[in-house]
Amino acid sequence: MVQSVSGLSLPEPFIPFIPVEGGERAFPVRRIWCVGRNYAAHAREMGADPVREPPFFFSKPPDSVVPGGGQLRFPIATENLHHEVELAVAIGACGVGVSAREAGNLIFGYAVALDMTRRDLQAQAKLASLPWDMAKGFDHSCPVSPIRPVSRSGRIDSGRLQLEVNGIIRQSGDLSDMIWSVEECIAALSWLVEIRPGDILLTGTPEGVGPVKPGDKLSAFCENVGALELRYTD
Ligand code: MN
Repeated sequence: MVQSVSGLSLPEPFIPFIPVEGGERAFPVRRIWCVGRNYAAHAREMGADPVREPPFFFSKPPDSVVPGGGQLRFPIATENLHHEVELAVAIGACGVGVSAREAGNLIFGYAVALDMTRRDLQAQAKLASLPWDMAKGFDHSCPVSPIRPVSRSGRIDSGRLQLEVNGIIRQSGDLSDMIWSVEECIAALSWLVEIRPGDILLTGTPEGVGPVKPGDKLSAFCENVGALELRYTD
């Protein structure tokens, strides 16, 4: 189905913004990076060995951000949409080749995010050794809460990370269970790309990922960071 096209005029550049707590200027999203398998129990539930793997990264397009959650249409092209609740780190400074000790200085703030995943497409991609883009980087695949600046929260390395679906707890973990800490993830990423303000890093999900159906209400919570509510319509 071709949707309405108004001639051939080009739009203004689109930059998604995430609200920032405390009345600060909204955060302009530049890039979204995600860490895979960063909690041992989740790596095991996905059939991987959590011990020996260095952090690996994939991305979502910036316009997959859904600031503040709300109502969402159920995504196309999947029979098995999965939730992954994650701590998101908003980057506020430039860095390349930084150490884990330096990496904390790049943090602007934190949010709770959902790395929504078309698990059926991901399984097909894994089997065929194909990229994950269509499993991870689809439209509206990255709902994010408002950002809490690190100036308010302090540096965060522990706290409960939880997701309820229709009031029932599906995922419950602690940030201290990450295999690679927030700072180690930022440092590792900075040896692969130059990190800049506006970048967002999702730091992986604890165990308990599972399916989401049309009509489901998702409530994500991260201690000392914030909360996010979302409902899928048909
Ligand atoms: Mn994830």
